[in-house]
Formats: sequence, structure tokens, C-alpha cells
Amino acid sequence: MKSEAETANSTGNSVGNEQEFINTVTALSLRQIERKKKIYDQEKEEHLQQVRNVHVYDEIFIYDTQDPIFDLKNEQKEAVGFDKDFIADNAKATSCYICTLSIKKEKICNFCALRSCRDCCYSKRAYPKQELLGGDVEPAKGRICKVCDRKFQM
Ligand SMILES: [Zn+2]
Ligand SMILES: [Zn+2]
Repeated sequence: MKSEAETANSTGNSVGNEQEFINTVTALSLRQIERKKKIYDQEKEEHLQQVRNVHVYDEIFIYDTQDPIFDLKNEQKEAVGFDKDFIADNAKATSCYICTLSIKKEKICNFCALRSCRDCCYSKRAYPKQELLGGDVEPAKGRICKVCDRKFQM
């Protein structure tokens, strides 16, 4: 017959082995998690370098180097790269999404295709990826809102 101490010991051993097994598995998965986290952090860092904020008045807009406005050959007909609700709101909004003042005369940006007030969309800019004809032919320009214009200046 085993003594109490021996029983405790053998139980302890079996628990110990199990614990060892759990420790090994946990260490393995922790290492995998660490590795994944490292990859994730690198990707996040790379993405953060692409994405920055654009401040116009008190509003904050996303600046992304992959923004479709940088690839335009000609006028953008419909808003892309925005939240669907935001686009729907913009189409019927009575106030400008940039300066927030009421839209008296609306303008539609030829780059992002969003509506704004006239004061927020008075500049013109050449479409960046258009084929230039050369000679005396001027590059085609589109109406550009303050937010898009700022993105080109960044
Ligand atoms: Zn405005
Ligand atoms: Zn715009």
C-alpha cells in the first residue's frame, strides 16, 4: 500500500507531465502568436506610412497614397473609396462636408466626385495620369475640392 506522500507524489507527477505538455504547447503557440504579431505590426506600420490624416478647417480626412484620385486620367464620375452612407449623405446634404456651412451653390469635385459648397471647390488641377499630347496642348484640368487639393500637396 502506498503512503499518502507517495500518492500525492505520483499524482503530482502526472499533473506535472500534463502541465509540462501544456507549457510546451503554450510556448509553441505563444511563439506563433509572437511571430504573427510581428508580421501584423510590420504591416500596420507600412500601412500607417501610406495613410495619414488631412486636416481642412476642423475636419479630418484620410490621406492614403493609394487614393484613386492620384490615378485619374480624366474626370471622376462617381465617388469611390468612401463609406456608402457617407456618399449617400453627401448627395443630399444641405451643408458642405468640408467647411460645414450651408451649400448655397454646389460644386462637384472632378476628382473625388463629392458635393461641396462653391468656396470649397474653386481650384483646378490637371488630371495626374492623363496622356499628355505635347506641343501647345494644355493638360486637361478638373475642378478640385480643398480636401483633394490638399492630398496632392502632401
Ligand atoms: Zn464648403
Ligand atoms: Zn474632391
